[in-house]
Amino acid sequence: MISQTMYELGTKKSTIRTIFEFGRRRAAEVGEENVFDFSLGNPNVPTPAFIKQVAIDILEHEEPRAVHGYTVAPGAPKTREAVARSINKRFGTDYEGKNIFMTAGAAAAITISFKALCQEGDEFIVFAPFFPEYRCFVESVGGKLVVVPARPSDWQIEFTAFEACITNHTKAVIVDSPNNPSGAVYSEETIRKLADVLRAKEKEYGHPIFLISDEPYREIVYEGFTVPYIPNYYDNTIVCYSYSKAFSLPGERIGYIAVPNKIASYEKVFGAIAGAARVLTHVNAPSLWQHVIARCAERPSDIGTYVKNAKLLYDGLIKAGFSCVQPQGAFYLFPKALETDDYAFCERAKKYDLLLVPGADFGCPGYFRLAYCIKTETIERSLPLFEKLAAEYK
Ligand code: PLP
Repeated sequence: MISQTMYELGTKKSTIRTIFEFGRRRAAEVGEENVFDFSLGNPNVPTPAFIKQVAIDILEHEEPRAVHGYTVAPGAPKTREAVARSINKRFGTDYEGKNIFMTAGAAAAITISFKALCQEGDEFIVFAPFFPEYRCFVESVGGKLVVVPARPSDWQIEFTAFEACITNHTKAVIVDSPNNPSGAVYSEETIRKLADVLRAKEKEYGHPIFLISDEPYREIVYEGFTVPYIPNYYDNTIVCYSYSKAFSLPGERIGYIAVPNKIASYEKVFGAIAGAARVLTHVNAPSLWQHVIARCAERPSDIGTYVKNAKLLYDGLIKAGFSCVQPQGAFYLFPKALETDDYAFCERAKKYDLLLVPGADFGCPGYFRLAYCIKTETIERSLPLFEKLAAEYK
């Protein structure tokens, strides 16, 4: 009668959602301030004032039909051109408007890219730990998700394991740096090596292997780390970007796909992206927000709160006896759980109203994720509780 797969996707809550909802119920019982909810990656930094001012100015002064009407499917020309200019300035690329396809955030950008590329039997490789939605996005277009085991010492790539995962059916490899959930940034050395491996495999199999760079956290990167612009290292890259985290606009749904000229069969890839967006009923990215991005694409992000929270939480956890890779970007930490069963560990943490997400959900059992895009004061007050939790294992 109905699609069982869709039913299950629509009714089975993700662990993150379940924990978040538990947190809401607990807050009603014990008070908001007594719940330490590290579950959700919803930015807490206010949307920059300049975004609000530009949006108001557009609503008040621009022609309503242009603001609220349909745009052409790949996006308003002035927005695509502004985005292209902003990328060229930062990374020395040669984009024009025609290289940019505006989307409803990174989720749409990734799904459209998967659908554009996927043919029967295709495999898409991800590196553990990975954003759990990749699985349903890939499977929804008929692809198979292949997971490369993690390298917990620094969350870079375990290359031997990676090479073993590449087959003649590999259509694309997905990278997400700065990473959700590990908080790691792939080094230039990692990107160079990744590009070398992929070029060698392309040669061996005689067809392109695409690299899909999912970049919602590109702007959230800490001192001492840089995020290499992957198309400058590997031609067959598709960039999926989002303003959700950069400008704290997750509910407005705005991002883009960038397709470099030098990608294999540029015209075909861009055409397939347009076709995939069409059948996925992605008519156009939200028009008002396209207008805002046309004026704000070059404006900076404010990451001060994340820098402060990252240091506070990392130092506190290390002091309490946890082991964790130093935060490099995004707004997540991914420490080792204090028992092998990460679900049991997160369950035990609930006793202190510490809401944590088990690593198994990200393909990496034995760890747990903390989203620290919350109030600094909440983190400060949570630290003695982490100490109490750790003391239970001593
Ligand atoms: N990719 C990763 C790695 C994410 O963490 C998220 C959201 O948390 C997304 C994609 C989706 O972002 P958007 O809000 O732009 O769709």
